[in-house]
Amino acid sequence: MKRIFNFLSPIKHLGDKNYSIVFPLLGTLSAVIILEFYAYIILGEPEAITTSAIFIFISLIIYFSFREGRRGGFIASIITISYYLYIIASREYQGERFVRGIETTVILAIIYFFLAAVIGWLKEVIDKLIEREANEKKRLETIFQQLPVGVVIADKNRKIVQANNRLNEIIGVKVPIGFQLGEGLIVSSISNGKPSTSDDDPLLQSLKTGKVVSNREFTITKNDHLVHLQVSAAPIKDRHNQTLAAASIISDITEQKNLEIRKDDFVNMASHELKTPLTSLKLYTEVMHRRLTKKNDKQLADIIKRAQDQLNRLQKLVDDLLDVSRIQTGKLTYTKERFNLSELVNETVEVLGETANSHNIIIEKTPNLQVHADRFRIYQVVTNLITNAIKYSPSNSEIRIQLIKNDSHALVRITDQGIGIPKEEHDKIFERLYQVFKTADKKSPGFGMGLFISKEIIERHKGKIWVESKLNEGSTFCFTLPLAKR
Ligand code: ADP
Repeated sequence: MKRIFNFLSPIKHLGDKNYSIVFPLLGTLSAVIILEFYAYIILGEPEAITTSAIFIFISLIIYFSFREGRRGGFIASIITISYYLYIIASREYQGERFVRGIETTVILAIIYFFLAAVIGWLKEVIDKLIEREANEKKRLETIFQQLPVGVVIADKNRKIVQANNRLNEIIGVKVPIGFQLGEGLIVSSISNGKPSTSDDDPLLQSLKTGKVVSNREFTITKNDHLVHLQVSAAPIKDRHNQTLAAASIISDITEQKNLEIRKDDFVNMASHELKTPLTSLKLYTEVMHRRLTKKNDKQLADIIKRAQDQLNRLQKLVDDLLDVSRIQTGKLTYTKERFNLSELVNETVEVLGETANSHNIIIEKTPNLQVHADRFRIYQVVTNLITNAIKYSPSNSEIRIQLIKNDSHALVRITDQGIGIPKEEHDKIFERLYQVFKTADKKSPGFGMGLFISKEIIERHKGKIWVESKLNEGSTFCFTLPLAKR
């Protein structure tokens, strides 16, 4: 029954471009035969075919043009018109009746063909549109399935409406379409795994807030293995900016993570191994330098002095490497004590000694600023900022250090008259291994670790660090630290 209904329904044939000629031909002929049979056999009255036939045939023409396009409508119209002519001939219309019959047939023919043309054309246009949309959908579906990242789309009622095969591979189970999402990480709820964090999934956040959530990292367990995921989500909105659904992109970054862990382990191990021979070497050269100075061998003593300088630079690099790897693994620890920040700054400039002689360092008259912090780490930050000021500004220029007492914070400003930093780089220079001018400073090249370490240290003390600078107009590096409570 359903199949007959599907066959007869023109709606079910929308988008189907296999137009049949046989069906309208047989359909209209059958209607003609039934009408003739009804008139001659049932009623026994050939003249009984009246205006009702006009409506039957109009319906048929509309039906066939809507089902089979223009050709279907034209075939039904031709048969209908032929039948009208047959009636005029077989019923032997004479005189005025004949003229009226022919006139009516011509007018009806115009109406029928017009209807068949318009409705058939509409049907063909609709078919084309439907086909185009279906092709577009297929194209998108192919791309969707072939993406190298997992994608899942949920509607505003938190039901999964689409997911691709890559997502199934990443989480190790098939994502059920229609699945109702709960709280937490969706891939965990689907795979019944335990997420490493109770944070909401970016997909749910995006649905809730209507905003993009980028690159959040999660860990799940798949077959007893840890899988690191990077998850982003974006809302899908309608024309009135209402969130209809949200799409989430999930990448498996386990390999990348493991590589990073191995790299950090390697850097950590290598710098540890380098530290011991370096310390011994420094001791030996110090002893040698002392003895050579005693013996008045100035030439050799100078050479050893230069070797010592190089060793100091090497030690700074190794120390920085160790600190960066400690920060990466969360192992940088702080031992806090109460001390006077102004004294520490004076001390730092003194310790810098010769390095600082090339510049005119001015420490403005300082208030007593008591802070509760890790003295060695803050000393490290101040040293780094002053050596940078020296490195990136011309010899004999001025470096001004200001210490200011704010409500609850100590503010340190270190201003140089050097090369400056363009605005778009102000945040980036605090990132790991970032350098603005890769070739600018050949005399003491760094690795872009100093500011990264300084930022970590200051932020761990609940302080802030930033730079105020313009290219070629010098820089002022500032940091704050909370004042110690009395
Ligand atoms: P590096 O060892 O390269 O100096 P840092 O992390 O200390 O590493 O600094 C990162 C980058 O920031 C530097 O390479 C330099 O380009 C820029 N920079 C830092 N301090 C200054 C400064 N006082 N003036 C100009 N540029 C600076």
